[in-house]
Amino acid sequence: MKQSVKMIVGNWKMNGRGEDLSEVLALASALAVQPSEHRVAICPPATLIERLARAAVGGAVEIGGQDCHEAPGGAFTGSISASMLADAGARLVILGHSERRAAFGESDGLVAAKVEAALAAGLEPIICVGETLEQREAGDAVAVVSAQVKGSAPDALKGQAFAVAYEPVWAIGTGLTPTTGQIEEVHRAVRAALIERLGVNDGGAAPILYGGSVKPGNAAEILSADEVGGALVGGASLKAEDFLGIIRAG
Ligand code: PEP
Repeated sequence: MKQSVKMIVGNWKMNGRGEDLSEVLALASALAVQPSEHRVAICPPATLIERLARAAVGGAVEIGGQDCHEAPGGAFTGSISASMLADAGARLVILGHSERRAAFGESDGLVAAKVEAALAAGLEPIICVGETLEQREAGDAVAVVSAQVKGSAPDALKGQAFAVAYEPVWAIGTGLTPTTGQIEEVHRAVRAALIERLGVNDGGAAPILYGGSVKPGNAAEILSADEVGGALVGGASLKAEDFLGIIRAG
């Protein structure tokens, strides 16, 4: 299935200070002059959400978080709840990024609980899945990703807006990308897993983004692949010029 309106989401990870607001201002003004048909979002560190939400006023650039706690509030020092993200101006939230799965031991069950918390706060979750190089080389990519989708997608997603991002761990920040055929094979498997898990109405419509070393130079080919409903972009989302190059390529 081809989706002509793509979702292009920037993940700033642990990068960005007040001085980087200028990148979002540049992005927002370029999109005001020449609007994009695509949905565009930036997920900055939590410290910048409110400032970016104000800077991106006008709606051309949506703002999201990069993670949330699964509880609505309480004694969880250092954590941020979904409703706090929403209160600061976020509309989306990335959940289950492979860096969090690897560095913070996030399981599919925990990601599913975070998805429920995000939905309860009115946020649109972007659920990340992806295989390691070892798993791909063992021929397990489709099985691993399908299991992650089923384990990370709670019933609460039915009737709600959400997206899934397929991000092969070995492609993140490495400059390596799968072939178009490999991307399409996994995206078809993600679609099948979503439909099995949530039914054809809810599982059949959610955009499936590709993430992992997306750049202006490879974005057109990736975004035109079958079942690719957008891109989750790390490094190349930090500079307005690069991110715009990806948005315009879609
Ligand atoms: C990411 O971290 O979500 C990502 C896709 O990073 P990069 O684009 O830098 O590979």
